[in-house]
Parts: sequence; structure tokens; C-alpha cells
Amino acid sequence: MAVGKEQEILKARTDKREYRRIVLRNSLEVLLISDPDTDKCAASMDVRVGSFCDPEGLEGLAHFLEHMLFYASEKYPLEDSYSKYITEHGGSTNAFTSNDHTNYFFDVNCDGFEEALDRFAQFFIKPLMKADATTREIKAVDSENQKNLLSDAWRLNQLQRHLSLEGHPYHKFSTGNWDTLEVCPKAKGLDPRHELIKFYEANYSANLMHLVIYAKEELDKIQGLVEEKFQEIRNIDRNSFHFPGQPCRSEHLQILVRVIPIKQGHKLRIVWPIMPEIQHYKEGPCRYLGHLIGHEGEGSLFYILKTLGWATSLSAGEAPETSEVSFFKVVIDLTDAGHEHSKDIIGLLFKYISLLQKSGVCKWIFDELAAVCETKFHYQDKTPPSDYAVNISSYMQLYPPKDWLVGSSILSTFSPNIIQKVLDELSPNNVRIFWESKKFEGDTDMVEPWYGTAYSIEKITGSMIQEWMLSAPDEDLHLPAPNVFIPTDLSLKNAHEKVNDPVVLRKSPCSMLWYKPDTVFLTPKAYVKIDFNCPHASDSPEAEVLCDIFTRLLMDYLNEYAYYAQVAGLYYGINHTDSGFQVILIGYNHKLRILLETIVDKIAQFKVKPDRFSVIKEMVTKEYQNFKFQQPYQQAMYYCALILQDGTWPWMEGLEALRHLEADDLTKFAPVMLSRAFLECYIAGNIERNEAESMIQHIEDVLFKDSNPICRPLSPSQYLANRIVKLEKGMSCFYPSEGLNPDDDNSALVHYIQVHRDDFTLNVKLQLFALVAKQPAFHQLRSVEQLGYITVLIQRNDFGIRGVLIIIQSTAMGPAKLDLRVEAFLKMFESKLHEMTNDEFKSNVNALIDVKLEKYKNLREECGFYWREIAEGTLKFNRKQSEVAALKQLTKQDLIEFFNSHIKVGAPRKKTLSVGVYGKLHSSEYTVDKSEPVKPYSVKIDDIFSFRRGLPLYGSFKGGLLHVE
Ligand SMILES: [Zn+2]
Repeated sequence: MAVGKEQEILKARTDKREYRRIVLRNSLEVLLISDPDTDKCAASMDVRVGSFCDPEGLEGLAHFLEHMLFYASEKYPLEDSYSKYITEHGGSTNAFTSNDHTNYFFDVNCDGFEEALDRFAQFFIKPLMKADATTREIKAVDSENQKNLLSDAWRLNQLQRHLSLEGHPYHKFSTGNWDTLEVCPKAKGLDPRHELIKFYEANYSANLMHLVIYAKEELDKIQGLVEEKFQEIRNIDRNSFHFPGQPCRSEHLQILVRVIPIKQGHKLRIVWPIMPEIQHYKEGPCRYLGHLIGHEGEGSLFYILKTLGWATSLSAGEAPETSEVSFFKVVIDLTDAGHEHSKDIIGLLFKYISLLQKSGVCKWIFDELAAVCETKFHYQDKTPPSDYAVNISSYMQLYPPKDWLVGSSILSTFSPNIIQKVLDELSPNNVRIFWESKKFEGDTDMVEPWYGTAYSIEKITGSMIQEWMLSAPDEDLHLPAPNVFIPTDLSLKNAHEKVNDPVVLRKSPCSMLWYKPDTVFLTPKAYVKIDFNCPHASDSPEAEVLCDIFTRLLMDYLNEYAYYAQVAGLYYGINHTDSGFQVILIGYNHKLRILLETIVDKIAQFKVKPDRFSVIKEMVTKEYQNFKFQQPYQQAMYYCALILQDGTWPWMEGLEALRHLEADDLTKFAPVMLSRAFLECYIAGNIERNEAESMIQHIEDVLFKDSNPICRPLSPSQYLANRIVKLEKGMSCFYPSEGLNPDDDNSALVHYIQVHRDDFTLNVKLQLFALVAKQPAFHQLRSVEQLGYITVLIQRNDFGIRGVLIIIQSTAMGPAKLDLRVEAFLKMFESKLHEMTNDEFKSNVNALIDVKLEKYKNLREECGFYWREIAEGTLKFNRKQSEVAALKQLTKQDLIEFFNSHIKVGAPRKKTLSVGVYGKLHSSEYTVDKSEPVKPYSVKIDDIFSFRRGLPLYGSFKGGLLHVE
């Protein structure tokens, strides 16, 4: 048992957890993390084998192995018992495959950790990859790929790979499908399962694995556990994989690739192969260059492109593929006008790069960035243990032990030479430009084989780019100014009182302020939310669209100034909501007030700039148009919400309204919208009482106090409500709809069961049902029946109206048939529920109690909970404790009775809404199902709005604010 020689692992100043590195006899390297405060334990195993290791002709094998490994093991042969165990102990489990590694992880309530860990370890010791499961799971991989086929992100990613050296693993297709994993191997006389096992045995070796264990116990205890459970993983001293050499040769560089995307919109991706940052992670050349090229302040490339009306977003930075292959990418979303000026835009980008060349590497910029990174690292928020474990186990293969926690997050060495070296790589001689637009339809002559993306290639030369630089407009590009938003006061305010729940600090006809000082996280950060309830903001599709444009224009006006705040770790957003709009700020509290006051001034002085209006209108229009390219299950979710929520407009009406809207309409609309407003505010974190009060007082002074005020309070009848349709007891409603994208093969079903209005006892019964049914539903519908990769059972909460959803996206069958499979599952589950022993029942109840009592890990999480109670008007700040008390009273019989009356097929009080979206493969079923005669106790919805109008509504929790004392 070699306990690695004590190396100090650098950790954040605020981090109270303990860490220890050990190396087991089988060479498995492990990081143990002891956190006495945690309510969840977690583990992550990172295996240095990924899709780059796929054998020739077996594309997707590593990814497929990732799917298969968790099915069963020799010690625990029952299929699915691992996931069932984890779910029933309040946890979750998942895995992912990348180019050069595969990561497996789970989290679980602490009392279930030891057994969960044993089950987890067995997958790496003696997995059982049974023959029948193998064939079934190839279908899941195929369905996963079907889901990706019409996604531009996947298509573009594969096109970039396709246009690279054929012998390099970067060139390959990594997901796998039915052809690559079943048909082709069999045609060659290969048995897919045999190949899978061969791959596993040849490559999975303890010396290529890194494990992170996150637990509540002391380090010695965790160490004992790990030594006992992971020692038996086989070590064959497999050499770690190397994929040296660049995947881009001269024929793959200096190319301009025109690509036809699925969605509306034009995009430029300018890409250079570079020296991977990991080789100089302390010097951070890509972070330095990404910071400058991606800057949005005055004088930046984006600022200029925005001023010209050519771009709506820009990002820049490293996109590493492995520790040996990496790219620097600049991605720019273009407007229609920008699309016509693509060569000017490329010219301006190279002009900015040459500005960086002329300016030389600036120490003050590096120092500023280093300071921001250092503060960010030392004041990082605690994240869920499984996320934390996954990050670190991935870092363990890249960094020496002392930097396992830090990774690349701190810049410690200023090296102008290294930055210069990467800057030199961003040259016209190395560049690959991918230019996406539907305008290229009809002009392409090539097709990428895996996704069918149409494209064409033009060779470009350095001198062409020189010409573009010369002909580009002469704009004042310059380096950013020093950042005034970097916090210098990180001290903690003295919270005099221990406040457990938010309190009303201030109440007026204009606003209500809820407040909660931080006494838990002790971090110099704050959270501010101002919710503008404006009755005129959502009373028509036009109003909703105009309000949306209003918020985007505000963000647009603020951008070059507020971008500095974002860089410094103070985030803000102005978003349109169902009842108006909201302003949110979260981050270091030191300079928060400056930003808040600027935002409020911008609201008060709002003016429509016609040129910016048309850019934003174009952007919103494309977003609406792209609605039809959403995944079919997202379309089904959308219809479900539209049917349930009163006073909502369909996207088609928004799109229609947009067509006619002009800048003048917003000029008229904005003052009307603001004329009546009520501000619901929540301030939490490192902010004192009087500060919080004076912030809101200031906002009222600006907006409400004047001889001719911008806003006036609401009249009592104007308070906004959120009202949800009350489905009829004993009725099943079905809404069939054709998929919006006729090219999409996938169908989807959302099967919604509406249960009740917020009530602690019913809530916990529903939650317990969802906990117990979640894994069996996944197992039966996805793993056994293979209906589709996306198969999930979750709870749904619409403004306090509770229910449960089963979502399936499928190429295997159409929505009406899927609905029958859901009912068959519920029937099967009924007998399982009766078979449940009292011990099993108790253990599920305890798991749910543990989940409820889980402490918030950071301010954002805590604020999320309280804000929801405030925004929805339920105001049950004691919800967790009350629900725990209700759970303790619950018997197995209560759960069965709940199931029998609300969930069981044919139950008298059951209220079901099934939404079916029919994909290309099932379009003939759509015609049949739509004209099928209606069965007793069921309703077929033809028109969503007449259906909605014909039903009663639940009472709203929201809008009762006047009565809060
Ligand atoms: Zn997968």
C-alpha cells in the first residue's frame, strides 16, 4: 500500500475540506476528499481511454462500452440493480466519453455510500456484459445518435473532424450507431459483444485510471474503504495512449468552408491548430489571448462589429481536444448585414490580431487577469460533490498532484515569450474558416458522411487575408481599459442577527423587499433580484415580443460597460418574464451597487435606437423561426405548458406579431409598459440591512418619485396571477401534433399526470412515488423496451400545481403507441408497489428525507429556493421541515392509496394530458391517430385555446402580496 509521498495539494483559502493522494498496489491513483459538512457522497473514475482508441471500423466502441459497463457485474448480476440502489438512496449516476478519456460517476446520500461504492468498484473489476443487453444497448446508442443528427453543434464538430488527416483519430466518428456497432461488424464476421469485451480487456487497466472519492468520513476511514474495494481492479500496465502529430496538414489549412446549417442564422468559426495550453498552464497564453480577442468593451473587436450592426455575439478561446491536439477558436454570430461583410469581419479580426502583435504582450493586462483568476479560485462556490469529483478526476490525468484542485484556474507565471508563441500561431497561414449560412443552399458540392452536412471548400491564401484586412473599414480598435469592477474589498459584513428565512424588510405601494443576510457561506458575494411586475407587459403577443426586445436592448446598451463587471465576477441579466421583466445581479458585492444603479438609470432613460432595434428584431425573429428545430420532446413540453398555463401565447403568434413591429412601436410601448409596476425584490448575501433598504429606496426614487413619474403603483385589481388549467378528473386528454421539422425522424411523447395544488402531505406522496418509480420507468421503457435514448420520469410544478411527467423521444414507435407503453408500465409498476417490503418503503422515505435536509452548497442555490417561494407566491419558507414532518407520518398504505386514486390506469381521480409529436417516421400514424374515434373518458384536443378556455383554473398563489404582513 504505497501512500504517495506527502505532496502538498494546493487548495483554496476558504476550503475547509481535507485531501489526500494515495496510490494503490495496482497503481490506481486516488484522491480522497473528506468533507464533514457534506450531505452527499460521490465518486468519479476517470479512465484514460476514449473514442480516439476505437479500433478501425468499430466507430463508437469506447462510447458503447461506457453504456455497457454499468449494466451489471459478477458480484451484482441483477441488471439495473446499481442504478436502482443509487436512485433509491437519493443519488444519481452517469458517465461520458470524450476523445481520450471516459468518466464514470455517481452521488448518493451518505448512508448509502459504502454499498454504492462497492457496486461501482465491481464494474471495473468484473463487469458482466450480457449478450442480450449488448444488442439492446446498441439501440440506445443508435437513438442517442438519432437525436444528434439534426443538431448543428454535432454536425459542425464532425465536419471539422472530417476535414482533417484521415489517419489521425481526430478524423473519426465517435458516437457510434446501429451500422458501426452491429451491421458492419457482423458483415465482417465479427461479434459486437466479443469486440466489446476484447476492447475492455485490452485497454481498461488500473494504471490508466484516476479515482476521486468525496465522503463525509475522516481520511483514514475513506482510505480503508478504497483500499478494500478498488485493490482488485486489474493492472496490465497498459501504456497510456498518445496521438502525436497535428491532425491538420497543409491541405486542411487556409481553407474557407461554406456550410449549410439546420437552423436560421449565419456564423463564422475561425479556427487555428495551436500548441495545447496544458503544456503551459501556468503561463495561460490562450486565456490571455482569449480575454483580449473575446473582449466586449469599447474598442474591442466585438464592440466594433456590434457598432457596425454585423455581429450579435463573439467568443474566443482555446478548445482543447486532448493534451496533444488543440485549437484556438473565434466564433461570431452574424447578422444578415454581417453575412454580407464576412470578409471585412475576417479582415477586422486579423487587424485586431496584428494590433496585439504591435502592442506586445502587456504585463498589466496579464496581472489584472491573474488577479481575477486568483480571487475566483480562492472564493469559489462549493459545487455538488459529483461535479467536483468529475472535474478533479479529469484534472488528475493532466496535472501534477499539487495542481489537481487548481488545474488551469490560476495564472502564476508571466511569460511574454510563450504568449507570443501562441499569438504567432494565430496567423493567416494556419487558419481554417467555417462559414455557416442557409444562403449557401444550392451552392455546395460536398456532403459530410456521418451527419449529411452539405458544404464546399475554397482555398484561401495569406495574401487574400491581407487584402481583406486592407479593405476592411478603418475602425478604432484598441486594447481594453483597466477594469474598475475588480473587487478590492472582500471583507465580510457583520451580520448582527441570525436570520433563518427571508424577512420583509421594506414594503411600499411600489415594492416589497425580502432580505436574508448571509450567515452560512461567509463569502463576499451577494444576490439581488428585482422583479418588475407590469400588467401591460404580457397582455398580447405584441406586448410580450416588445417587452422581450426592450430587455435585450437594455442589455445591448449596457454591454460594453457591464462586460467589465462580468469579467470581474459580477454577473447580471435583464430577462423578460411571464409578468414583465427582471433584473438579476450575482457576484462580488463590493461594486454591485454601481452596476445596479447604472442598470436602473438605463431603464429610466430608455430610448429606442432604431439601428439596434432592427438588429435585435432580426435576432428575435430567427430565434422564433428556429423554434421548429427544437428536439421533438422539447416541442411536446412546449405544447404541454401552452395547454396548462392560462394567458400564454403560442410562438407562431409572436412571430406573426414581430413581422409588423417597428422601432416606433417600442417607443410607444415602453412608457406604457413601465407606467404601472410593482417591484418584488430579494436581496441576500454579504449586504447589510440598511444597504439593502437604501438600494430599493434609490430605485423607487428614480422610477416612482417625480412630478411626472416613470412608474406608478398598481391598482389592487392589477396584481398579476399565474393560473393553471385544472384538468378534469377521470379524463385522459390527448393532443397529437406533427413535428415542426419535417426532416426529423424522431417522435416524442409527454405523458403528464396532474395531481394537486401545493400541499405538504400530497407533495411528499407524489415525490415518494416519483422516487420509487423513476428507475423502474427508465429501466423498463429505455433499457428493456428500447423506446428511445431520452426516457425520463420527473415531477412537474407549475406555480404550485404539482404533477408527474413521463417523457420519451423515439424512432421506435409513434406517440399513441408510446402512450400505451407508458400505461403498460404503470400497470406493471402497480404490482411492484404492492410487493414493496416495509423495509424498502422506510428506506425510500429516509432517502427522501435526506435529500430534503440537504444543506445549500452556495448562495445561488439558497436564493434559488427562496426566490421560487417568493415569485410563485407560495411563501413556504419552512417547506423542507414541514415536508419532512409529513413524510415521517407516511405509511406504505398511504402511498398505495395515493397511487390508486391519482396515478393508476383508470383511477377515478386521475387527470392525464398526453402530448404527442409525430416525427417523419410516424407521419402516417398521425393521420390515423388524429381521426381515430374518441374513447370513453378521453378527449382529443384539436385546438389548444378552445380547450384551455373550456376548463376551470386553479387559484393563483401569486398576487396576494398586499396581505403579507
Ligand atoms: Zn451515450
